[in-house]
Formats: sequence, C-alpha cells, structure tokens
Amino acid sequence: MTQIEINEAMKQIVRDTTVEIMDCGGTYPKDTRDAVAEEFPELTEAFGVDRLLALCKVVLESSDPTESVRLQKLFQIYNAEYFAEQLRHYSVLAVYDVCHWQGNPGGDVTSGHTDHARSRIFIGMTKHRAALPSLLLHHMAHALTATSYPNDEQWIAEMQRLRDLGAPVDGALISSPSCMGLM
Ligand SMILES: [Zn+2]
Repeated sequence: MTQIEINEAMKQIVRDTTVEIMDCGGTYPKDTRDAVAEEFPELTEAFGVDRLLALCKVVLESSDPTESVRLQKLFQIYNAEYFAEQLRHYSVLAVYDVCHWQGNPGGDVTSGHTDHARSRIFIGMTKHRAALPSLLLHHMAHALTATSYPNDEQWIAEMQRLRDLGAPVDGALISSPSCMGLM
C-alpha cells in the first residue's frame, strides 16, 4: 500500500469505528484509537499511532458532508410535504458527536439537537441510517414548536399531527422519556 492508500483506508476505518462506538454509548478519541489499533495493528503501525489519535479527534468533531446534503434535501421535502413551508430555513448537519456541536463535549450521547438561535439541526450519525428521517422529523417538530424537550405538550401534539399525516415518525420517539440516548 502507498502512503496515500494507507491514509484513505485509515480515514474510512476511523469514520466507521467512530459511528460504531457512538452507537454503543459514546467515544473519546483515545477509545476510537484503541479500537482501531486492536483491530488493525499493521495499518496502525504504518499510519502512526499518534497521527491516528489526532485523526480520531478530527473525525469525532466533524460532520459528514454526504449525509448532511441528504438530510438537508430531506428537510426541504418534509417542509413542503408536512409543514406547508412554515419552517424557516435550518441548516441540517449530520455530525459524529452531537455533544461537541452543542458545546457540551464529553456529554451524554445525544441522537440530535436543535439550535433554535442559530437555526441549525444536528443529527447524530448512526449505522442505523433508516432511523435518520424520523430523527430529522423529531427535530423539525422541535424547530416548529421552539421546544427542546420531549415532554413538552406542544411538541407531542406536533408529533401526533405528523403521525396522523402519515409522516415517517417513529412512534417510540413520541413517548420516549428523553431526547438523550440512542434510538
Ligand atoms: Zn427531542
């Protein structure tokens, strides 16, 4: 393998491993590094263990461009289909660590966050990609009702309205005791 091939392979491994460990309750860069080093010892040696730690931090604090574009398009489709274009523009970002973007690094793993002040919706990356549309709707409902918590009656009513419209909302999310944690 050339150095470029090693770099590219390692980037993909770190992305995948980060998502995998986040799905299991959260990760710090050194956890990702240790998991990668254990599973890919030769590649880790070729890449360099210190560089690997730095890469794990960069990836953890980044967003995924492809998934972000997909979710942004979905936001526009849902806004037309279920909200009669009543939602103002929100930037939707698919991120590896929602807590980092919330300004709460190292906090409990959160599957998403709506930043009302900056008109941004953060959706946590997960290997359960099929769950992302319902997670996006969950946060679009927070955006519309200017709420942050799942026990808010306005938000619950909005989720029920979406469900009645046939929107792909996950029923389990409506009654979930907390926005925190994995779905
Ligand atoms: Zn919520």
